[in-house]
Amino acid sequence: MNLTDTHCHLNFKAYRDDLQDVLSRAEANGIKRVLVPAIDLETSREVLSLVDSHEILYAAVGVHPNSSQTWDSNSPAELESLASHPKVVAIGEIGLDYYRDTAPKNIQIEILKKQLQIALSRKLPVILHVRNKTEEDRICIRDLLVILEDWLTEADPLPQELKSRPGVIHSFSGNLEESKQALLLGFYIGITGPVTFKKADTNREVVQKTPLSKLLIETDGPFITPHPFRGKRNEPAHVCYIVDKISEITGNTQEFISDQTTANADCLFRWE
Ligand SMILES: [Zn+2]
Repeated sequence: MNLTDTHCHLNFKAYRDDLQDVLSRAEANGIKRVLVPAIDLETSREVLSLVDSHEILYAAVGVHPNSSQTWDSNSPAELESLASHPKVVAIGEIGLDYYRDTAPKNIQIEILKKQLQIALSRKLPVILHVRNKTEEDRICIRDLLVILEDWLTEADPLPQELKSRPGVIHSFSGNLEESKQALLLGFYIGITGPVTFKKADTNREVVQKTPLSKLLIETDGPFITPHPFRGKRNEPAHVCYIVDKISEITGNTQEFISDQTTANADCLFRWE
């Protein structure tokens, strides 16, 4: 197997006592690379020191909408400088969260837009977090899609490096219509544990109708562990359960799904 976990928070304290075992299990299960996204500037520094000491790890740096209160006037310059580290392959995770709602919408939007500009100037793709207020209230993903469209159309010029690979909507929980809009803008769709849950018919429909060349697989560990380990700590070795489910939904072999999604990750993140 040739697998990639494109989103796992290995710097979180859930892994503090056994990170080496977690990484050994990942490698034993065919995982060649793991992307570790930060959630604020402090964790960005943490993640960079982690990826420096483990060959299979790569980093994304950025400020998550739920960490908006940590953003100040020095943050843009700091983020720019952190983003120049050779193992940084994306700006993330950034985005909007109207569920936790830890900062007013206009502040979240302002911080997101500033980081999108930094991604442009560094020619790096973005890893986007989006969480609606409720299943019915979908203003959050709508706002995000409008901001992303403006970002791409107003970039003058849009760097060649970001055409067709502007980023990924991580742990995609949108509906089919929203996935189509994201795909039209060139974004990848990140698939996580919920695709294995009983109630996730919408998620499975999105997987079925998304071109395989645009799917990414991610654990989002330590969170949202796939069936049959739901409720336990998640880790990169669990990507195989997501592969199994996508293979079942699309009628392809596990090997094909692994190779294809890893090729997609290589294409988006351009790691050597
Ligand atoms: Zn995450």
